[in-house]
Amino acid sequence: MTVTGRFAPSPTGAMHLGNARTALLAWLHSRAHGGRHLLRFEDLDAGRVRPWAYDLTRRDLAWLGLDWDEEFRQSGRLDLYAAALSRLDTYPCTCTRKEVLAAIQDSAGAPHGEEAVYPGTCRAGSVHPQRPAARRWRVPDAESCVTDALTGKTLCQWLPRDVGDFVLRRNDGVYAYHLAVVVDDALMGVTDVLRGADLWTASPRQAALHRALGFTPPRFLHVPLLTDYRGERLAKRGGAPPLSEWRERGEAPGRVLADLARSLPWPEFQAVPQEVTATELLPLWAAVLSRQVLAR
Ligand code: GLU
Repeated sequence: MTVTGRFAPSPTGAMHLGNARTALLAWLHSRAHGGRHLLRFEDLDAGRVRPWAYDLTRRDLAWLGLDWDEEFRQSGRLDLYAAALSRLDTYPCTCTRKEVLAAIQDSAGAPHGEEAVYPGTCRAGSVHPQRPAARRWRVPDAESCVTDALTGKTLCQWLPRDVGDFVLRRNDGVYAYHLAVVVDDALMGVTDVLRGADLWTASPRQAALHRALGFTPPRFLHVPLLTDYRGERLAKRGGAPPLSEWRERGEAPGRVLADLARSLPWPEFQAVPQEVTATELLPLWAAVLSRQVLAR
C-alpha cells in the first residue's frame, strides 16, 4: 500500500514551533514510507483566516526543508462537503450554546467527560423554526473504536452517550471541521493521519463518519504536543512566538530542526548533532516506527 500523509494547518496565524514539530513528523512519516505528502489549508472559518498565513506557512515549511506533492484549500471544496452532508442522516438544530448547556444541566446526566454532549433537544423537530439552523448528525446507536498506530492505544466511544449528535454545518453555513477532515482524508486518498494528540478523542467520531459515508477510516497516529516551560501547549492564540522569527533572525534551519528533534520523546532522536536536515531524520523516524504496533 502506498502511504499518503498530510499536514493540515489552519491559516489563522503564524506557525509556531509546536506546529513545526507536527509538520516535521507528518513529513517524516510520509517520506519514510516513500509516500505522497499533501499540504491542506483548513480555512473554512473565514472569520478566523489571516490571508497572509498561507504564504508564511509555505515559506516556513520550505525553510525547514519540508516539501509536499499537492496543495489544497478547504474553502475551494464546499461542494464536496455539501454532497457528503446530504448523504448523512442530519436534522436542523436552532438551539443556542446556552440552551444546550441548560438542557444538559436539567437532564439527569451531567456532561460526560470534558465535553458537553448534546442531549438531542432538536431530534424530534426544531425548537425555534424562525432561527437559522445548524445541521447535526443523528449519530448511530453504536460504539466507535480507534487504535492508534503509533501508541497502540485503543479508544472506544459509545456515540450517543460519549459524543452526541454533533454539528456538521454551523448555523452560519460553515461546514464543521469533523465533516471536512473526513471527506478530505477519504477523497484525497490519505492513508495515514499523523497529527497532534489533542485530536485523539476526535478520532472515534471521525472514524464513524468515514464508515457512515462508506469510506475505510485511515490509520491514525497521534504525536505529543510541544509544551512550554510551564508544561502548557503552545498556541497561536496564546501568543507562542512564530517560527518565522528564527528565520528572520538568520538562524540556521538545521539548528531549529535539531532542537525540535531533541524535544521529541523517543530515544532515537536524542543523539542528533547540532544541525541536521529533515532528510537526515528519516531513518530515525523509521526506527521509531519499527518499534511500534502499526495496527490497521
Ligand atoms: N487543522 C487542524 C489544526 O490546525 C488539524 C486537523 C487534523 O490534522 O486533522 O489543528
